[in-house]
Amino acid sequence: MKHLNVLEAKLTDFVCQASGNYLNEENAITKDLIGLRIYDAPLIGAAPVSDVLFEALKKPEAIGEHFMLPKDWMPEGRTVLSFFLPYTEAVKLANARDGREPAPEWLHGRIEGQSFLTEACAYLKDTIEHMSGTVIVPTWDPRFWKSETPKGVEFPDYEFTSNWSERHIAFVCGLGTFGLSRGLITKAGIAGRFASLITDLEFEPVPREYDGLYDYCTNCGACIRRCPVNAISFETGKAHEPCASFLDYTEEAYAPRYGCGKCQTGVPCESGIPGK
Ligand code: SF4
Ligand code: SF4
Repeated sequence: MKHLNVLEAKLTDFVCQASGNYLNEENAITKDLIGLRIYDAPLIGAAPVSDVLFEALKKPEAIGEHFMLPKDWMPEGRTVLSFFLPYTEAVKLANARDGREPAPEWLHGRIEGQSFLTEACAYLKDTIEHMSGTVIVPTWDPRFWKSETPKGVEFPDYEFTSNWSERHIAFVCGLGTFGLSRGLITKAGIAGRFASLITDLEFEPVPREYDGLYDYCTNCGACIRRCPVNAISFETGKAHEPCASFLDYTEEAYAPRYGCGKCQTGVPCESGIPGK
């Protein structure tokens, strides 16, 4: 069984040094943002493909029958790895203070940050392959789908579902629990992005230091007050429609970028597990 600390150290070095994690003259919205670093050091989680919680994700109250198990993606797979890249203070602070509109730093985090997340995932894949492992990244696989109805399948809420969910996978892999705003609260907070892969190498699992889906959320309601379109409530959590409509608006206003993330910044769970 392999230890995760080697992978985590390598990914941390990559995140610190790779040029893709820093804005440059070509992509910065304004000159003062050149050199801005998008992400801080990563967190990595792991779970065996046989973990019973993966099967539980097929329940209608979780993702649903359409969720594909790790073994469906990779029959010879042994471990699911999930990693979290937390945004830097510069990205979070800017979005925490910019009123209703997304801060330029956050727009960069959403778009250039997504490109770098893909780079980091490719780096992790290469690293494991150098250890003689085989890797599948479900969200890169042709079988992956989201927000579409696959042939012959009907879902009442199909527009907002997928057959692999990074936040659910991160929960199973020991990285954290859900918040009222439906983000995942990790030891490094809620503001950041997740990716995952499946490998045939056996890595030590990361123990889940929680029992319930929402253990790290204090239900403080700060994310409710931060949302510009009242998409979050104590009763129903986050409603997808108003959130998606607001993201559509930002896409029109800030094309080619978009984003919001107000519920993830300026809140007690932004950068860590909030105190009870
Ligand atoms: S802001 Fe408060 S209620 Fe909202 S997800 Fe974070 S801890 Fe939970
Ligand atoms: S991303 Fe923005 S619009 Fe969507 S729930 Fe969070 S604060 Fe509201």
